[in-house]
Amino acid sequence: MSFSRPYTKPMRARDMPVPDIPPRLYRGVDFSACNDTPMTMPKSPRAKNRAVLNLARMQPCLLQSPVCQPEPETTVACHGAGVANGKGLGYKTGDQNTVWGCWACNDFTDAYNGATAEEKAAVFAAGHVRQVEAWAQIAADPMARPWKRNAAKWALEQPKGTP
Ligand SMILES: [Zn+2]
Repeated sequence: MSFSRPYTKPMRARDMPVPDIPPRLYRGVDFSACNDTPMTMPKSPRAKNRAVLNLARMQPCLLQSPVCQPEPETTVACHGAGVANGKGLGYKTGDQNTVWGCWACNDFTDAYNGATAEEKAAVFAAGHVRQVEAWAQIAADPMARPWKRNAAKWALEQPKGTP
C-alpha cells in the first residue's frame, strides 16, 4: 500500500469552509438596527421595510380567514395582493399594509377563487386591525429586541392605505 499518490475526494458542499458572512446579513435578516440607530427610508415608490416582513417569522396567523391553517412556521407578512387587485389597484402595497398570515390565508387573500373580492377585503381589513395591535405590543415591549421594536414603530408610523 502506497501513500505516494493519495486520492483526494472532491469536497462536498457541506464540507466546504463556512464563508465569512457579516452577521448583519445572516440569512437575509437585517440586524443593522440592533444598535437602535434610526432606520433609513429607502427611495422607493412604495414603503419597504425588510425588518417589518421579518417580524412575521413564527408568528400566529392574524388573517384568520375561513380556510385558516394556523401553522406559525408558515406565517409570512401578507400584502393582500388579491385584495389590492380586487380594488383595481395594480400594485403591491407598502410593507405597513401587511398582515401576518399562514399559507392558507395568504392564498385566500391572493389567488383563492372561493371568495369574493369583498370577502377577501373584509378578512384583510380585520386582520390588519389585529396586526396594528400586535405591532403596538412589540413597539411597547421593553424586552423585545431593538430591531423588532424599530420595525414595529416604523410600520405604525407609515400612512395607512398608501402604496
Ligand atoms: Zn391563517
